[in-house]
Amino acid sequence: SYFTDLGLAEPILRALGAKGYADPTPIQRQAIPALLEGRDLLGIAQTGTGKTAAFALPSLHRLSEDIKPRPNAGCRMLVLSPTRELAAQIAENMRGYAKFLNLTVQCVFGGVPVGKQARALERGTDVLVATPGRLLDLIDQRALTLRHVEIFVLDEADQMMDLGFIVPLKRVAALLPKKRQSLFFSATMPQAIADLGRQFINDPVRVEV
Ligand code: AMP
Repeated sequence: SYFTDLGLAEPILRALGAKGYADPTPIQRQAIPALLEGRDLLGIAQTGTGKTAAFALPSLHRLSEDIKPRPNAGCRMLVLSPTRELAAQIAENMRGYAKFLNLTVQCVFGGVPVGKQARALERGTDVLVATPGRLLDLIDQRALTLRHVEIFVLDEADQMMDLGFIVPLKRVAALLPKKRQSLFFSATMPQAIADLGRQFINDPVRVEV
């Protein structure tokens, strides 16, 4: 099958064409139609399977089909990633997929001054990719609110747990609107991760690659 069969908006197909992608990977083929319908997703997949595009493409499609102003000091889509390297990589990929859309992607992570990130968020962003600690710092400084999140992605849940991010994740979850689409990805799905997932996602489509 081809990306053109999946129902993605033309500017997204154009961005994929620019990257030279023609065929969706298995996780993309399975996840994209369900995500376009607004379903929650439980994805068991490793990096390298194309999982970033699997969550990014349908999310960008839905945001672009329902135009809203960027929420001040807020975002419409939140992607949580365990490390700054992964967060930066996700943001870079998403900027590429959003190249022909009027949607902004910002990325925040620890280890760099928080003031510049706070100022950059004042006018809001459509998509925010963040590591959990810095996200909560920005919330505590009132530089960021999660009140407007429509789509929430938790990436690499097993790494999050290994890095001790469970308490911060539960704080984040408590601040998210109840009505939202949630996506939960992990390379492995031991019981503890499945239990964690249940706290974020509702009646998910399950995809394993
Ligand atoms: P990910 O698993 O999201 O880290 O993606 C792994 C790599 O595959 C990244 O470099 C992507 O840019 C690339 N990629 C993702 N989807 C496709 C696709 N459908 N065709 C070719 N390359 C892809």
